[in-house]
Amino acid sequence: MHDLAAGVARFQRTVFPAKTPLFAELATTHRPTALFIGCSDARVVPELITQSEPGELFVIRTAGNIVPAYSPGSDGVAASIEYAVAMLKVSEIVVCGHSACGAMTALAEGHDLTGAPAVASWLRHADASMARASRTGESVANLVRANVSAQLANLATHPSVAAALAANTLTLRGWVYEIPTGAVEELDLAGHPA
Ligand code: ZN
Repeated sequence: MHDLAAGVARFQRTVFPAKTPLFAELATTHRPTALFIGCSDARVVPELITQSEPGELFVIRTAGNIVPAYSPGSDGVAASIEYAVAMLKVSEIVVCGHSACGAMTALAEGHDLTGAPAVASWLRHADASMARASRTGESVANLVRANVSAQLANLATHPSVAAALAANTLTLRGWVYEIPTGAVEELDLAGHPA
């Protein structure tokens, strides 16, 4: 098992000293330019994939890179989106799905989730993803793409996002990351390869 404390010690010994000026600036500055919404999957690391430095990416990671559609009485995901768009004024949001996604596999293959009721409930936010995918067959890869486009549509229901899109100050992107090759496929907003 990876030793987290040893990792912290290595960070403090070798990584931090090499970036001292950056961390000094970041102590009082938080101006990310993009919001990255990805899966919680340990294999999908936003800063690694995009080669971003600390301070550059505002990140939300959820099971299945799912973004619930806006509803009054909001949650942590909604609050993070609003903060990134309305307060930090990011100019770009990426929703990034990935190959071999456990959440999308469970849906595509109809896994029994009675032992994981919170997961089952959360994945209901991908009902529209399932509906979109069923038009083209329900391979996991198809569902991953359909889910990215469904979550982009959900994203646009958040008032801060809707306002920024109307003002032309925000761009939405859909990506699919391939774990075995490192490829990133850009999708159009309908969920097809762009
Ligand atoms: Zn995943």
